[in-house]
Amino acid sequence: MRNLDRKLVAGNWKMNLLRQDAQWLMAEIIGMLADEESRDVRVAIIPSFVHIGALAQQASADKRFGIGAQNCSDKISGAYTGEVSASMINSVGGKYIIIGHSERRAYFNESNEQLLNKTKLTLSEKLTPIFCCGELLADRNSENYFEIVKQQLTNSLFELSVDDFKNTVIAYEPVWAIGTGLTASPDQAQEMHAFIRKLVADKYGADIADQTTILYGGSCNEKNAKELFSLPDVDGGLIGGAALKSRSFIEIIKALP
Ligand code: PEP
Repeated sequence: MRNLDRKLVAGNWKMNLLRQDAQWLMAEIIGMLADEESRDVRVAIIPSFVHIGALAQQASADKRFGIGAQNCSDKISGAYTGEVSASMINSVGGKYIIIGHSERRAYFNESNEQLLNKTKLTLSEKLTPIFCCGELLADRNSENYFEIVKQQLTNSLFELSVDDFKNTVIAYEPVWAIGTGLTASPDQAQEMHAFIRKLVADKYGADIADQTTILYGGSCNEKNAKELFSLPDVDGGLIGGAALKSRSFIEIIKALP
């Protein structure tokens, strides 16, 4: 049975947009979603750290929006020059934190232990972690993709207690589909999402698995979103490039069943 509360669309703006452009885009998205008043959806907007406070204020009147961060420190506080803590993100109005995006895993060598710490700190602030997993093209070609995703979850996220885990969102993002224009086919996406839900059920039980939000990410756009979001185990999307265009992003939100 599909749980409608699982639905979420999150836009990851990555390292794009200066302050005024970020506020313009936010204003456009707020305006367009206001025209869709009857739509009961959850939308996360995830800009650079430096815009979180301003966008959280800007979007505060529409409870469908939550602003988030693309990363946080794995430390609570202290002498870690350049780092940003989960509590700082909370203090400026952030609601979500992306953990373990493939760009951070690849360019910043984030370990499973760090990702687990980041997830725990996010949860200790009562924010929602969006925990990313997904295989490289080489893993897909060598048919090793189930094992890779299982390891990413087992060696990190699944160390959480059940009470922590149930407040976590998972995003399946095949690395070969991120920013490439290649999208997982509906069969590939459903197969992996069902696999992830089964892993969650084995670890935390069927009820928790049924309530877990599992997003698809990787070149999701206004043309393919409807088909992907209609799959039984796909609960919405983590959107990169298409989240930077208000019209495309709104069409993606409207593609939620
Ligand atoms: C992402 O970076 O999380 C992402 C899904 O990017 P894109 O939609 O551009 O592939």
